[in-house]
Amino acid sequence: MKICAGLICLMTACCGISYAAPGGTRIASGTYFDAFGDARADAYALLAKIDSSYLLYASGGAGATDAVSDILAKTLDGLYQEVSDILDIHMYSFKGSVVAFADQPALERFLKQQYGIDFPERSLYHFEKNTIYISLADATVGMLGHEIAHAVISNYFVVPPPEKVQEVLCGYVEYSLRKTRSSLP
Ligand SMILES: [Zn+2]
Repeated sequence: MKICAGLICLMTACCGISYAAPGGTRIASGTYFDAFGDARADAYALLAKIDSSYLLYASGGAGATDAVSDILAKTLDGLYQEVSDILDIHMYSFKGSVVAFADQPALERFLKQQYGIDFPERSLYHFEKNTIYISLADATVGMLGHEIAHAVISNYFVVPPPEKVQEVLCGYVEYSLRKTRSSLP
């Protein structure tokens, strides 16, 4: 995931480019994250990738869309707190965004249009926008946790740790999240 920090630098250099909506419409609004997506990357789709038990809540019927949006918001907040616990870094005033795309080509198209760059990876954290961009086709809870860890580390330290140190920390968060979930019954 070396691309993460490298891209941050590249995108910082491009920050003069106009930037309208973060991508899609708002699909959830929580304490720590607002989430954005489109018809192919909606609240259901994102929630399904990060919480396999979402079907227990999503019973359908009137108001189901709002309900799923609320569950997604709480799930993202819960994941933020879990990552914070793993890192033992707690920032209660944090507020960032997650922008979901249906797949990697959609993510790449957006970044090409917005910043004029080619991006072959599946997720990234953009420090200037305090935003995580993620391809849902490839997304896992570990991948999203990895990017949240970048967000926590980048916002907590006045001088962010070197790229390699960040990757070790974010890799550890990703590993811990995977391990926790694989041990669930
Ligand atoms: Zn990374």
